[in-house]
Amino acid sequence: MQRIGILGGTFNPVHIGHIRPAVEVFEALQPDRIDLIPCASPPHKAESNLLPFELRAKMLAAAAAPFPYLQISHIENERPGPSYTYDTLTAYHASNPGCSLFFILGAGDLVTLPDWHKGMQIPNLADLVVLPRSGRDVETVHSVIRDSWPDAVKEQEKAPLAAVYRLPSGHKIHFLPQPRLDISATLVRERWLAGRNVTYLVPRAVLDIMLEHRETITACWSRG
Ligand code: ATP
Repeated sequence: MQRIGILGGTFNPVHIGHIRPAVEVFEALQPDRIDLIPCASPPHKAESNLLPFELRAKMLAAAAAPFPYLQISHIENERPGPSYTYDTLTAYHASNPGCSLFFILGAGDLVTLPDWHKGMQIPNLADLVVLPRSGRDVETVHSVIRDSWPDAVKEQEKAPLAAVYRLPSGHKIHFLPQPRLDISATLVRERWLAGRNVTYLVPRAVLDIMLEHRETITACWSRG
């Protein structure tokens, strides 16, 4: 049975706060691979400052290149309309029968899951792997899980996971502590537009692509 990790995002642009957690999840849960899925049409984010899909995907491919287990999927660019995670996970089950999916998301995104299209049904399709993004996230994650899934049973914690909850669907929510990187694409865009240096916030290969497409990127992000 194939075990596939899925990390979706706008990746506008990809930064080290995306890639490092993917490495941490791979080492902790040992899926066969992790697919990075750039969102084509984000349901919850403004599109005015979103770089073209192909450019975001190109930067993502450059960031993932050193890691054979990180792959880029264009699945959300292959269907029209808003890129709903529920639809993406359903499509994965259709094209990989019997696969087991791990959907990776930052703690802040877990909090908003009930607002997503069929958000509360996502754990019927995949295990969730929740990543803390700040010190506050640890207690928040536990209380969100208790409030949103009162039937969840907390299992024995096994290193390196901080907690595992088993849901009535049989799927689990894994809470995976890791070195916190207080970096967001918003921060990278702000630094870039201020003419500041973004070295070490994005992988070197991503920076090279950003410099190559400097004018397109600056014009697009200025619309944000
Ligand atoms: P933006 O600042 O534009 O909102 P972002 O940096 O949050 O973007 P996304 O592409 O929206 O990046 O994130 C994709 C996924 O990666 C989300 O689940 C998000 O929570 C997670 N993520 C992003 N940055 C980090 C980080 N520094 N640490 C852990 N998870 C992260």
